[in-house]
Amino acid sequence: MTVALVTGASRGIGAEVARELEVAGLDVVRGVRTPDPTDPTQRRLDVTDQASIDDLAASLERLDVLVNNAGIVDDADDSAVGIDLDVVRRTLETNLFGAWRVAQACAPLLRRSGHGRIVNVSSGMGQLSDMTGGSAAYRISKVSLNALTRILAHELAPDGVLVNAVSPGWVRSDMGGRSAPRSLEEGADTAVWLATLPDDGPTGGFFRDRRPNPW
Ligand code: NDP
Repeated sequence: MTVALVTGASRGIGAEVARELEVAGLDVVRGVRTPDPTDPTQRRLDVTDQASIDDLAASLERLDVLVNNAGIVDDADDSAVGIDLDVVRRTLETNLFGAWRVAQACAPLLRRSGHGRIVNVSSGMGQLSDMTGGSAAYRISKVSLNALTRILAHELAPDGVLVNAVSPGWVRSDMGGRSAPRSLEEGADTAVWLATLPDDGPTGGFFRDRRPNPW
């Protein structure tokens, strides 16, 4: 059975991606900071805590799909000129290094799969071609995640691991707020599609609504 790990699966887009992958027949491991003891699919995973990542990776016999979804917004409207750089560091810890750490820990398993997939949940705010001011820490974390996506795609291509980034659009979650135009299902759709790509699917791309998105 195809095994998928979704980080930040406690709520929002991650919870929806996990649910849909399960419906598609995958065996889903939900990485969450505070597991619900009544849900056997939930496992402790804090992407800022290397030990929790190593423990989880070591406990997996196989892994075919990694969805790096866990993310935070810590800077609201902060400008690059005025922002406290500790906020930038904190944001990168989760949004960039978090995804990077989990990818490192899971790479041996994904390589062994022969059909590995990594989906990095990025953002339109990480689009260099549309970069404006504000939310400096968040924007930089997602631009960096996009770069990591391309680097990993190159490094893992010889082992058949397809690595792509997704812009889910503005989605009604705790992060996106109630006035966001997109449902969780709409926000999860492209991530689920990328997680279940056929072997001849794209790699090293950035997608929105299942179509290439400008970097
Ligand atoms: P939510 O705030 O609703 O959920 C965030 C999830 O990330 C929660 O499950 C949270 O866990 C988890 N998380 C945060 N920090 C960590 C950590 N250190 N370790 C493990 N899990 C962590 O956000 P969304 O569902 O909206 O966002 C999911 C992804 O989509 C993020 O990467 C976000 O940047 C991206 N995105 C969202 C958009 C939107 O409009 N909503 C737009 C563009 C991109 P916990 O419950 O423990 O806090």
